[in-house]
Amino acid sequence: GIRVANVSKRFGDFRAVDDVSVDVDTGSLVALLGPSGSGKSTLLRLIAGLEEADAGRIWITGEEATERSVQERQVGFVFQHFALFKHRNVRRNVSFGLELRRWKPEAIRRRVDELLDLVHLRGYGNRYPSQLSGGQRQRVALARALAVQPRVLLLDEPFSALDAKVRKELRAWLRHLHDEMHVTTVIVTHDQEEAMEVADRIVVMNEGRVEQIGSPAEIYDHPASPFVMSFVGAVN
Ligand code: ATP
Ligand code: MG
Repeated sequence: GIRVANVSKRFGDFRAVDDVSVDVDTGSLVALLGPSGSGKSTLLRLIAGLEEADAGRIWITGEEATERSVQERQVGFVFQHFALFKHRNVRRNVSFGLELRRWKPEAIRRRVDELLDLVHLRGYGNRYPSQLSGGQRQRVALARALAVQPRVLLLDEPFSALDAKVRKELRAWLRHLHDEMHVTTVIVTHDQEEAMEVADRIVVMNEGRVEQIGSPAEIYDHPASPFVMSFVGAVN
């Protein structure tokens, strides 16, 4: 799992993440939910090692990661507008991390086949990113993130650029994928419905702080503050 203990991050005088503590159980899927500017992406980047914390400590699968580099943390991530390599076809996007690790071509071929099956893109291996829909691109990005068997998967609004129907499909598919793979996953979203549908637990954030942590039912039935009540009750 992931343990975030009293982590803070300032940009100048502004506290983007303010003394946040969160535990993500091994194999669970946790959503960071909050309005724009509440510090969700910053917290995710702190977990990934893309930002350095001013205070606090972070553990990933039991090992202290606070001082570790992005590579050493062995996390996979997917962002909202995740750039695939546009001059590589789908297969060679997915195999990127395996090539870096000098896997043998035959092993790469087998692993990529497996991953393309997993994301339902068998038969798309020779296409280029420009020849894919947005939803297909995000699934390639997920396959690429999963290729190297990350210890945790970090997703920052991976589906929010897509239309509502595709978003809903991918959400259900992510839940299904997670149930099969049991990779510890943190997904950032500002969409209440998405968090409710997909997550085991929800971390509600506001102005850099954690307002409430609980299961979707707990958050919905017993909002801990007026903020949570209005935010979770609000319809987009
Ligand atoms: P959104 O839903 O819009 O993506 P968010 O919850 O992900 O919002 P963050 O991106 O974590 O929010 O940003 C939190 C706050 O920190 C914002 O007010 C943002 O302007 C500020 N911030 C983030 N990164 C930087 C940076 N590199 N320099 C200065 N301020 C930053
Ligand atoms: Mg963000």
